[in-house]
Amino acid sequence: MRMKNLVIVGFGGMGSYHVELVGAASGITVTGVYDVAPDRVAAAEQKGLPTYTSFEAVLADEEVDAILIATPNDSHKDLAMQALEAGKHVVCEKPVTITSADLEAILAVAKAENRTFMVHQNRRWDSDFLIVRDMVQKEAQIGNVFHIESRVQGANGIPGDWRHLKAQGGGMVLDWGVHLLDQLLFMTDSPIKSVSANLSFILGDEVDDGFTSFITFESGVTALIEVGTTNYVKLPRWYVKGTEGTAVIHDWDLSGEIMAPDRTVAKVEPKPIQAGQGLTKTMAPPSEESTTRSPITKVEADMPGFYDNFAAVLNGDAEPIVKNEEVHRVLRLIEAIFEAGEQGEVVYM
Ligand code: NAD
Repeated sequence: MRMKNLVIVGFGGMGSYHVELVGAASGITVTGVYDVAPDRVAAAEQKGLPTYTSFEAVLADEEVDAILIATPNDSHKDLAMQALEAGKHVVCEKPVTITSADLEAILAVAKAENRTFMVHQNRRWDSDFLIVRDMVQKEAQIGNVFHIESRVQGANGIPGDWRHLKAQGGGMVLDWGVHLLDQLLFMTDSPIKSVSANLSFILGDEVDDGFTSFITFESGVTALIEVGTTNYVKLPRWYVKGTEGTAVIHDWDLSGEIMAPDRTVAKVEPKPIQAGQGLTKTMAPPSEESTTRSPITKVEADMPGFYDNFAAVLNGDAEPIVKNEEVHRVLRLIEAIFEAGEQGEVVYM
């Protein structure tokens, strides 16, 4: 099968990283770059990549099979639609669009042109996420998972320039939120019931610098999703409760542990402990004798890498791992989070 030629449009922080991602995959090769900024064009040329002088020139090049869009969020829709209309397949960075209606417009063109459109939801392959997904789906390590807390927290505020601007699709719900929400829906096999949210504007930007959302599923599972950029001390990346234990994963280094009741021994009643100015048995730690403590162990991905999958989809050999209806569902959830945060009300889905 012939290698598929991919041109990167938007050679900034993420666009340039795709050179490595594509390089590690089979069936796709990066054959060029287009960026509106001269310094980014120069950066591409320094890496030995051919560059184009206009987006139209990329579209007109019949050797180009696919285009990666890694530009600021507000430009994804128009660039994607033009690329699809020109007969190119498209990989688009997240968040695919700012509204679900914009995604619907893109998908209508992709369907009419019979072209593949896939969104780079790369954090479906993160090791920390794969461990939690395994816990949720196999119900093996901590029983039936009924509560998931997923957080990313930093102390550096909103990065960059366009991420501060509402018109460009800035803010943390659309930036990091889309990753955490995509992960949540990718591992949870239930319709969403309700969404509440608090958007943070503590840094005085016109866009949110973080948010907290509480999501309930019809299955009864609940989730707390939090993105913060004003956290000098951060909470664990994951805190997951199941009927047979609790798991904590502190960070991307996979440090953490699983505490579970040891069903092979008789339960030892906790002894009251001194707590502040009182005594408590309720909040005493579980007894060492009837509890097991295990480390977090890595889970290998049970799916090919993003670009391997993209190449297989183009060749008609596979279904996309990131399905457009899943991406659409995440955007609908994001819209509910904005509505819940702005109205101060619970949104029922
Ligand atoms: P960036 O500002 O570093 O880079 C954007 C680049 O696009 C710049 O070089 C800019 O000159 C160029 N550009 C702007 N408008 C253009 C146009 N019309 N045509 C061609 N080039 C244009 O931003 P970034 O951090 O690389 O983010 C780009 C996209 O990638 C965003 O959608 C962002 O959300 C996404 N992203 C995804 C991940 C991930 O993990 N999947 C990580 C970071 C960023």
